[in-house]
Amino acid sequence: MAEVTIRQFAEVVGISIDRLLEQLQEAGVQVADPDAMISDAEKMELLGHLRRKHSTGDDEDVAESKKITLKRKTSSELKLANSQGKTKSVTVEVRKKRTYIKRSVVVEEETKRIEEAKAKRAEHIAVQEIVERETKRKVDELDSKRQAVDEVHTRTIEEAKEVEKQRALMEAKRVVEKELAKQAVKPDEDEGVESRNKKRGRRKERFDDADVLVEAEVAVVDEEAQPAREELHVSADMAGRRKRKQKHKKVNVQPSEEHGFTMPTARVVREVSVPETMTVGELAQKMSVKVAEVIKVLMNLGTMATINQVIDQATAVVVVEELGHKAKLTKADAIEDTIVEEESSANAIARPPVVTIMGHVDHGKTSLLDYIRRTKVAAGEAGGITQHIGAYHVETKNGVITFLDTPGHAAFTAMRARGAKATDIVILVVAADDGVMPQTRESIQHAKAGNVPLIIAVNKIDKPDADPERVRNALVQEGVVPDDWGGDTMFVNVSARTGEGVDKLLEAILLQAEVLELKAVADGPARGVIIESRLDKGRGPVATILVQKGTLRKGDIVLAGFEYGRVRAMLDENGKQVDAAGPSMPVEVLGLSSVPNAGDEATAVADERTAREVAAFRQSRFRDVKMARQQSVKLENMFSQMQEGEVRTLFIVLKSDVQGSAEAISDALQKLSTDEVKVRIITSGVGAITESDVNLAVASNAIVIGFNVRADVAAKRLIEEEGVDLRYYSIIYELLDHVKQAMSGMLAPLFKESIVGIAEVRDVFRSPKFGNIAGCMVTQGAVKRNNPIRVLRDNVVIYEGELESLRRFKDDAGEVKQGLECGIGVKNYNDVQPGDQIEVYERIQIQRTI
Ligand code: GDP
Ligand code: MG
Repeated sequence: MAEVTIRQFAEVVGISIDRLLEQLQEAGVQVADPDAMISDAEKMELLGHLRRKHSTGDDEDVAESKKITLKRKTSSELKLANSQGKTKSVTVEVRKKRTYIKRSVVVEEETKRIEEAKAKRAEHIAVQEIVERETKRKVDELDSKRQAVDEVHTRTIEEAKEVEKQRALMEAKRVVEKELAKQAVKPDEDEGVESRNKKRGRRKERFDDADVLVEAEVAVVDEEAQPAREELHVSADMAGRRKRKQKHKKVNVQPSEEHGFTMPTARVVREVSVPETMTVGELAQKMSVKVAEVIKVLMNLGTMATINQVIDQATAVVVVEELGHKAKLTKADAIEDTIVEEESSANAIARPPVVTIMGHVDHGKTSLLDYIRRTKVAAGEAGGITQHIGAYHVETKNGVITFLDTPGHAAFTAMRARGAKATDIVILVVAADDGVMPQTRESIQHAKAGNVPLIIAVNKIDKPDADPERVRNALVQEGVVPDDWGGDTMFVNVSARTGEGVDKLLEAILLQAEVLELKAVADGPARGVIIESRLDKGRGPVATILVQKGTLRKGDIVLAGFEYGRVRAMLDENGKQVDAAGPSMPVEVLGLSSVPNAGDEATAVADERTAREVAAFRQSRFRDVKMARQQSVKLENMFSQMQEGEVRTLFIVLKSDVQGSAEAISDALQKLSTDEVKVRIITSGVGAITESDVNLAVASNAIVIGFNVRADVAAKRLIEEEGVDLRYYSIIYELLDHVKQAMSGMLAPLFKESIVGIAEVRDVFRSPKFGNIAGCMVTQGAVKRNNPIRVLRDNVVIYEGELESLRRFKDDAGEVKQGLECGIGVKNYNDVQPGDQIEVYERIQIQRTI
């Protein structure tokens, strides 16, 4: 083509003249007006420009063109014959829509996402490194300090005396030094930790405000080697409320053979017990230093604290070491530690096993307990009419067995949820005529989760249709293999009716107990667990304590949870007064201030004041500890805890609507396990989330996942109380994604469902115009017309969809609030029944914060 005008060229190309002019301009081709000529060279220039532009893809049109949507519509006609034989034609229209996206775009996005994730991960690692380095520095620092103190400890008395002598000579000089130090700037705390001399200087300075002339390490000597000093240490231990001045007076009167006078020597290194949390004031008091001292040290550590501020154990230890004392880590209540120490001493003796009976309803738990009780328990003197308490013990010729008379896994798990482990062995009762049932399975899971060995009592073998072999086979399916089949579980055939096999069962229990080598210290203060408690009209608070260690005696002061009191009277299971109860013995105790909770730990303590203080302390700490615990089992915190090396296993309690999805999800979740993090399904089952599920989750630090199921009322309350992490899902891959992401710390912005409102269906009306209309009461939140909904029956999701109509009286409503009635029509669903719940939800995007 020869030269043409721009106007002609535009026509040929098929775009407007203005657009062409614009493009030419962009391409850097100078043109005067539409009638000007355009050369081939200029055309090539334009083409080149347009190509470049397209390949960089900065044009919006171009980006769009990476995605192509094809729509196709086909119509066809069907001829149908109806019942009268007439034919009827129906037009069928098939619409297809398909979107193609250029692969490069997808790849690009994916790469970008991966890059981002990598960057995040790198950031985490960097932070972790810093934390590690910081921790190591602190630990090193503490170590070197400890070393310095140890050195002092190991020094011989001669050496100490030698130093003492020198000290005496240098005393005058030190007084001056001290005065100087008072005005001097505080030396840098961080340097020269290893140097004892510098440390000495610092210690001296710390005691500036005490108006005594004290020199430190000399007194840090072996107590046994120098009994004369013992008094000093004793007084120092009780020095909490004593003025330092008095203490040193005491030191002064101690005779010294070598000198005519004794230096006011002793600066005592105290062993300070450091509980999990404590206030600055408490810490100061324990070390007998001024609060200001502690605050000063904290300031040097970069923490601004006040007297009532609660500091954690790690910080407190640093402060204690910093002030030259020794820290001893204790639990919140140090009392229990004294008993723990005794436990380690070698005088532990064998103790009777404590047994809990579990099993499916009607399989004979109560009957079995009753039979054993009736025939084996020595009847009480009071006419054999026994008073019912939550536990009893049986004396056989081979040994004693204690039974917890709280059948069912609910009690067992509730106990475990509170951190108490009362049961050594679980007897699982399975009726030979019924076999493995849901609660049988649940019991197995609970026992496994609690790491408690099982003994199977195959009950009702007196019945003609009893089939113990079938029970065995069924239990093998559940992973419980009889020992005579090469497994490790004892099976005993029994009849609670005729008593057949019961002796064998008792023998099996004792055999298992022998394997477990159950031992406990029998003397010393008692420690145990509350099995049950109640308020008796005549006798006040009554608690059944299962003694686990030591011996509980009448007159002891007992601390149980938040309650305490002097044991006024102690009764055994027959209502007979007893004066003492040793390990594995259950006793009913009178005299507590109020009713403790089942599962609370019960401890005999030295005096009432300690009991009162600890009870008060526990009450005040209860919230903190609970909150900390709650935080620790949130899915979101999973990764950060892994970084701290804490979580290695993610425990999950899974409930779903049907067995198929339970299995599929459970399998898929377990496959998410990596070398670093294991996923463990504590239990998976079908149906609503129950209180027992939640208890199990609390006991094993698990999160609860409901797939198309909801928590029932009791479970909801417990979830709230315990702060359990509960998640509802209705899409499997979303569930898996969340867990996977939580494990890798790469939770991208995620969608979370939140329940906006719940309406309970009270009645269902037929409306010719709208189909079925559910007459509802909004019981929670608000029902919103345009949100997605689910229909729940017995807390299981049976339909997912949207609303067709929402009406209040005769009018359409956009939203109906809690406490109001409304009429709801569910789109495309006509099976709503009274008692169903309609759950209105929304999906909100959560931005991750890690
Ligand atoms: P639980 O719900 O597990 O406590 O079961 P129960 O102890 O209440 O027993 C349920 C029913 O089974 C009762 O009617 C008992 O009489 C009966 N039962 C329990 N053990 C036996 C047994 O060994 N043989 C027979 N024939 N019946 C039994
Ligand atoms: Mg029963």
